[in-house]
Amino acid sequence: MAHKILLLAGDGIGPEIVGATEQVLGALRDRFGFACEFEHALMGGCAIDAHGDSLPAATLDLARSADAILLGAVGGPKWDQVERAIRPERGLLRLRSELGFYCNLRPAVLFPALADASSLKRDVVAGLDIMIIRELTGGIYFGQPRGIETLADGRRRGFNTLEYREDEIERIMRSGFDIARKRGKRLCSVDKANVLEVSELWREVAETVGRDYPDVELSHMYVDNASMQLVRTPKQFDVIVTTNMFGDILSDLAAMLTGSIGMLPSASLDANGKGLFEPVHGSAPDIAGRGVANPLATILSASMMLRYTLNEAALADRLEAAVARVLEGGIRTADIAGADDRAVGTADMTTAVIDALGAA
Ligand code: NAD
Repeated sequence: MAHKILLLAGDGIGPEIVGATEQVLGALRDRFGFACEFEHALMGGCAIDAHGDSLPAATLDLARSADAILLGAVGGPKWDQVERAIRPERGLLRLRSELGFYCNLRPAVLFPALADASSLKRDVVAGLDIMIIRELTGGIYFGQPRGIETLADGRRRGFNTLEYREDEIERIMRSGFDIARKRGKRLCSVDKANVLEVSELWREVAETVGRDYPDVELSHMYVDNASMQLVRTPKQFDVIVTTNMFGDILSDLAAMLTGSIGMLPSASLDANGKGLFEPVHGSAPDIAGRGVANPLATILSASMMLRYTLNEAALADRLEAAVARVLEGGIRTADIAGADDRAVGTADMTTAVIDALGAA
């Protein structure tokens, strides 16, 4: 059966980078027998323009019935003044929560050819390959009660609630152990158990789940230490699993160890491994429509889709090897070009990746 892939190009550079990735997936289909069908739908600002809603019901229906979803990016200055409830970002949050995408994977991989793009020394980051797993649908970003209230004396008070149920912790831990098992078999759970009761429970559940994975080494680290260690010796980590807010911060920190936003993929998975795959960067309105955007973050997101949802690990390996070869060959878009490099545009980078896939 052909894999049904929903393509949501979105706004800004979205159509350029998703179009590029569709070509790459098309080459895998034509040359290597990757059975897939594409569907296209509107989400984000373009959907507000067409339907007055950033996540129209028809898009949500297609997302539910697809095997996997690939998103470009949503948003841009044109929709900044739109009412908060229907903003492009709201559509994305709704898609994630409606489809139960609770497990966010953010790899931080440094391709050897780009080691000098990092702000850290080459030997600290060369060969870096870590995976940050962030719980995406719970914790302080969703906890109730929340709000800003005015106290009797007229002072205002803002408040949010940090909470995790045991079952929420257990499922993200299982995802963490399953992924660590497929990689270096080391899982570091990051919390703040010296201060927070929620973290105490987090740690306890991690230990309990860990008994089912004796082949994976489990360690614990406080979030303040983890942020220090990520900058000091990032290669000590294999897989990190953490809460929504800690993961939000640490995954950006880890991503920047690699130097370029145009290179960073991500995945958000549900309990059955179905997922939403998207580059970490936004819609880059400053370069939209100019054909210069780096498509590699989206192409690498498609590779995560092949690996984590569609069970096509061999094709994912082939695609990642093609990207590495292109970079080793010195081909660069403007965002990753050095002072002496001649930058290519989106189309040439895409053709280079397709050529580097090799023959069937
Ligand atoms: P951005 O990531 O879009 O851009 C930041 C900088 O990086 C810009 O200079 C941009 O040109 C550059 N850049 C980003 N991706 C690139 C690529 N593939 N190739 C080359 N250069 C690239 O962040 P921003 O400017 O803060 O946000 C722009 C819009 O995107 C906003 O409306 C924001 O809300 C939205 N956004 C969407 C998502 C998403 O869809 N998941 C994520 C972040 C931001």
